[in-house]
Amino acid sequence: MTKDLYFSKDHQLVRRAVADFIKKEINPYIDQWEEEGLTPLHDLFKKMGELGFLGLRYDTKYGGEGLDYWYELVFLEEIAKIRAGGVALAIMVQTNMATPAISDFGNEYLKKNYLEPALKGQMVSAIAVTESDAGSDVSALKTFAKKEGDHYILNGSKTFITNGTQADFLTLLARTSEDPGYHSFSLFIVPTDIKGFSVGKKLDKLGMRSSDTAELFFDNMKIPAQNLIGQEGEGFIQQMMQFQHERFSALPLAYGTAEAIMKETIGYLKQRVVFGKPLIKQQVIRHNLAQWASEIQALKQFTYHIVRMKTAGQDASKEVSMGKLLAAQLVQKVADGCLQYYGGSGLMNEMAISRFFRDSKLISVGGGADEVMKEIIAKLERY
Ligand SMILES: Cc1cc2nc3c(=O)[nH]c(=O)nc-3n(C[C@H](O)[C@H](O)[C@H](O)COP(=O)(O)OP(=O)(O)OC[C@H]3O[C@@H](n4cnc5c(N)ncnc54)[C@H](O)[C@@H]3O)c2cc1C
Repeated sequence: MTKDLYFSKDHQLVRRAVADFIKKEINPYIDQWEEEGLTPLHDLFKKMGELGFLGLRYDTKYGGEGLDYWYELVFLEEIAKIRAGGVALAIMVQTNMATPAISDFGNEYLKKNYLEPALKGQMVSAIAVTESDAGSDVSALKTFAKKEGDHYILNGSKTFITNGTQADFLTLLARTSEDPGYHSFSLFIVPTDIKGFSVGKKLDKLGMRSSDTAELFFDNMKIPAQNLIGQEGEGFIQQMMQFQHERFSALPLAYGTAEAIMKETIGYLKQRVVFGKPLIKQQVIRHNLAQWASEIQALKQFTYHIVRMKTAGQDASKEVSMGKLLAAQLVQKVADGCLQYYGGSGLMNEMAISRFFRDSKLISVGGGADEVMKEIIAKLERY
């Protein structure tokens, strides 16, 4: 057997452990969670936290495993194979979206009281940035945190927040000054058991149905000043850096899902007989599958290049934006193309391909839409 160029035996052990966990503890319940519009995250994260899955690359001092980015990649590649994007999304919020900023910029109190319980699966987190009038343009957000003594008084609302109905704390971006410019924002840890917090409603969505998405409201919430992440006025920059972890996770999510869709579809095409022969025998279909397999492989190798950059401590913002853009487009192309080959069956909700198709749309919109990625790339390329 040829030696794997990227992954050691230890990486493969983690890969198998995550795959086994998904097989036993997640996939059997997917249909139920999709139906209920919610994954029971406290229960699931507790089990994942006990196995060390939620903090692979985080500091051992705060409950992490202290491993390198390749382990994180192995984990994300396996999570992408969960048969519902919604469950994968909920997990990635906990590992790649709501916790990186606490680890990178948080004080000891926040690391001990929020990061550590999140990595151990004892607390569920959410990332709260988007508002009804501030999505792609993050700087348009209005939620305000006003300093009063040793507290901040938080007022405003957020929308489309993943894990929003279950979260024990939010990593939240708020204005702390009315001044124009990017130094008027700060990141906070907002515990959801403080008076003044309310969940508006769980939103009904096209895809990612097993992930709860909610509107959240903050009415004169008294947030201790020690819940400020880093320095006041640095939140916008910190969140842009946190977005890098979120956007990176979209790459393995997309190519892992695309691979799962291809595998499932090829199985179907081998047994579906049309015009007297299995559909897989149609050259045009085989050629399209070959095209998509090539594009998936190219995206995977680009992702490995990004991991090498991250491991070497290099800034991969441009490459991550390029990768997210291509990943989002590729997974939708594969989902759409494969659904076509299922004919009418593909449109039936009971079919996995129908769920894959619905779930794949989010990557082009969430965490920075395709157009936002293009703006970043054009800026970094100095066009
Ligand atoms: C299922 C789901 C889960 C989500 N989870 C979270 C979460 O956990 N936390 C959170 O904070 N947010 C979350 N979001 C919000 C998500 O990040 C935003 O929807 C996204 O950033 C886009 O913002 P918007 O919806 O306000 O679209 P808008 O900003 O109104 O943009 C609409 C469209 O305009 C186009 N566009 C935008 N800017 C440009 C431009 N410069 N040039 C050309 N075209 C442009 C894009 O096509 C874009 O899709 C989630 C959204 C969904 C649907």
